[in-house]
Formats: sequence, C-alpha cells, structure tokens
Amino acid sequence: MSWEIPPYHSDSSYPESYYANSVSNSRKSKTLKGSLETDVCIIGAGFTGLSTAIFLAERGFRIIVLEGAKIGWGASGRNGGQAINGFSGSIDSIRNLLGNGSAQLAHEMFEEGVRLIEYLMEKYAIECDYKHGNLALALTARQARRLEREVNERQQKNQGDFAYLDQDSLAGHIGSQLYCGGYIDRKSGHLHPLKLALGEAGVLEQLGGVIFENTPALAINELPGKVEIKVPEGRICCSKLVLGCNGYLNLKGHRVSRQILPVFSEIVATEPLPDELAREVMPSDSSAFDVRFLPDYYRLSADKRMLFGSSTDYGRPGKYQTGSRSLARMHKVFPVLENAGIDFAWRGKFAVTLNRLPQLGTIGSRIYYGHGYCGHGVNCSHLFGKLLSEAIEGNTERFDIFAKMPQRKFPGGRHLRIPLTMVGAHFYQARDWLGF
Ligand SMILES: Cc1cc2nc3c(=O)[nH]c(=O)nc-3n(C[C@H](O)[C@H](O)[C@H](O)COP(=O)(O)OP(=O)(O)OC[C@H]3O[C@@H](n4cnc5c(N)ncnc54)[C@H](O)[C@@H]3O)c2cc1C
Repeated sequence: MSWEIPPYHSDSSYPESYYANSVSNSRKSKTLKGSLETDVCIIGAGFTGLSTAIFLAERGFRIIVLEGAKIGWGASGRNGGQAINGFSGSIDSIRNLLGNGSAQLAHEMFEEGVRLIEYLMEKYAIECDYKHGNLALALTARQARRLEREVNERQQKNQGDFAYLDQDSLAGHIGSQLYCGGYIDRKSGHLHPLKLALGEAGVLEQLGGVIFENTPALAINELPGKVEIKVPEGRICCSKLVLGCNGYLNLKGHRVSRQILPVFSEIVATEPLPDELAREVMPSDSSAFDVRFLPDYYRLSADKRMLFGSSTDYGRPGKYQTGSRSLARMHKVFPVLENAGIDFAWRGKFAVTLNRLPQLGTIGSRIYYGHGYCGHGVNCSHLFGKLLSEAIEGNTERFDIFAKMPQRKFPGGRHLRIPLTMVGAHFYQARDWLGF
C-alpha cells in the first residue's frame, strides 16, 4: 500500500510567540539528503514523536525522526503548558466497551503522563520552568457541585492528590470574582513546552537518535518486510514507522486522517507583571482552566507574564485578529489586567476525536499512530509515546486498550464534517451558557 502526504505548512520558522522568544536553541539543524535505513522512523518531532523515540532509544533501537518544520513547531511548542493528569473521555466508556480489566489498566495510567514528564526532566536534567499545581474552575453552582463530586470520587479511588475549593478558599489561588468553586490537582502542573521539546530532542540525540528538521515526509510505501518514507531529497527504509503528526496528519486516501478533526486555539502573553500584581491574580502560581466545553486556560510564565488561552475554531482558524478573543476573555476574568501590555499573540492546531478519547492504532503490521488527545496532549502525548514504544517492542497489552476502542470518522464527509461538528460544539456551548 502507498499513501501520499500533501504539503502541510508554508513557513518552517517558529511562529512569533513567548515560547520561541524565551528559548536559546543553539543546536545545528540537519536536513535529510540521501538514503538511510533504521529500525524505527518517526514522523513528527512533537511530544508524541520525541517521547516514543526516547523510550525506544533507551531500549537500544536505532531511531530517525523526520520533522517537516522544526522541533516542537506544532502544538507541542506553542500550547498552554498545562500538564494535567488523566485523559479526555471517560474510564466508564472503556469499562462499557472492554470490561473491568481494561478499565482498571486505564485507571492505573491516570497519573502516568505527568510522571513520565517528571521522569524525563529528572533523569536527563531538562530545565523547562516546571511548577506543580493545576486548578479546575466552576463558573456556576452546578459546575461547582460537579467538581466537588469529582474530587470525592477521585479521593475514594485514591486517584491523584485533589482538594475541593469553595469560593473562599479559591481566593488563595485566583484573584478573580468570576468563579464560585473549583479544585486543585496538586500532582498536575505547568511548564514551558518548547523548552521541554528541545530538551527531549537533546536527550534523544545523546541516546544516539537522529532528528532531521525541514524534512517533510511526502509519501509512505509499505513494501515486503519494510516501510519506505519519501522526503524531498531522499528516503528512509525502516522496520517500523510511527506517525506522530496529530492535528497535521493527512494520509491521503486513508481513513485515519478523517478520524480526527483539527482544532485551533490562541494564546496571548502579557508583558512581565510586577510581582505584586502577579501575586494578586495567581497567588499560588498554579495553572488554571474553567470547565466549560470551550474553556479559558491560563497561568503565569516563569518571568510572570500572564499566558491566557481561549477560543476554539474547528477545521480552520477563525477570521479574527489572533489574540483578540483571548484578550477579551482575559479582561473579563481579570479586570485588573486591563492595562497590561500584550507582547505576544499566537495560534496553534491540535486534534480532537468524535468520542473525545485519544486514538492509538496500527495501519498494516508496521505503521503505528497516536493522536487526538483533545487538549490533554502535554501529558497524554508522553503516555502514548510510552504505549507506542511498548507495542513496537512487542508488548501490546496497554496499547490494545486504546487501539480496540471504536475510532469513528467525523460524519459529513469532506465538506460537511466541519459545519456538523460546529453544530455539535454550539450545542455544548449553549449548555455552558445555561450553566450546566
Ligand atoms: C494553543 C494550544 C494550546 C494548548 N494547550 C494545552 C495545554 O495547556 N495542555 C495540554 O495538555 N494540551 C494542550 N494543547 C494540546 C497539545 O499541545 C497537543 O495535544 C500535543 O502537543 C500534541 O503533540 P504531538 O506531538 O502529538 O503533535 P504536535 O506537537 O502537533 O507535533 C506534530 C509534528 O508533526 C510534524 N509533521 C506533521 N506532518 C508531517 C510530515 N508529513 N512530515 C514531517 N513532519 C510532520 C509537524 O510539523 C509537527 O511538528 C494545546 C494545543 C494548542 C494548539
């Protein structure tokens, strides 16, 4: 079988963002010219590709990563930086479909994504401004009751380290009058995602892996006993191939690309705030998100900028000035930041799935994929990197839980899937407005 991959970007420099402006990247970039062979080739140098690559390189595999732009150029280098335990979709849906054993295994993975990030940071001394503490916030009494129930359930299941916060105790964490309750998840946290991606790339190279940047995969051919990947000026032959392309995946003619929908979100970064103002808005320096279907998500950077993310557009970016909608939301949440200068505004793209569960799977016997983390990708990309590496080594027990979950195409075909998804999203937004 063969698949073409159409070009997916026109500019391979990092988008202007707080992250790109606060890293020093002295590594020398390499582009593939010629023909190479390897055990495992990975397309995409985001967290999925890099973590899979590291876990395999630690086990002695020869690894080549092909990145069409730059390391962390995709969602991994421009997200909100919130490393939140768990995954989207419910363990109950896994139990209903695959039984108690699989649900128990999935439950045991609840904290693993963040633990894997901590493992990489500690073992390889990756410095990425990591801090503990993540807040989930309720805008209505009904949402607050839901969060309180969630905390009770998690405490009963001994999951994570959560505490419910009523409006008074919330004041110790957030300087906003908008919320009426929430919880703190002390085992989740926040970090500088591009520093983490570049740090992971350095680790992979120390372990003998090779990364080619500005080297887009243009076609994949499954041949007897191997997979061939064509790039503009060369090719790779490998025994196993991993697709770590997430929102950018486009395997022409294969249904896997239609099982995910790209989604755009945007972030603004203020100028560094004076210490007192930074303490006033985020007293505990945790990261935060509200629990609406399309949430606000925000945190302070290491140099005390407010990084405020909001808005979601399905399929293609909305026609409005980048950052304008997040800025309006930031002023609503924190009127005290009305006069804070804005230094950066940027957009990024990630993938969602129809049932909100992340997807792992195989195409034929040699091609693997992991994607569709639905906004939980900082943690899940590392968890899935681990599961992909286990499957490639031959242990598919944990991989199969997700690979066996139904992976449906978005309804509506090429032309109607975006409008139909937007109708669905409007339904959930309407529920948010009604306070559900
Ligand atoms: C604005 C924004 C805010 C977010 N905030 C959060 C958050 O706070 N917390 C959270 O958990 N998640 C968040 N996410 C989601 C999270 O960033 C992603 O789920 C995660 O980074 C996905 O990692 P990945 O490696 O799978 O994909 P990506 O990081 O998107 O990497 C895919 C890579 O594949 C490359 N690629 C694609 N096609 C090819 C090809 N043909 N050849 C070569 N290379 C190719 C791309 O260039 C890209 O670098 C956010 C996303 C965005 C956009």
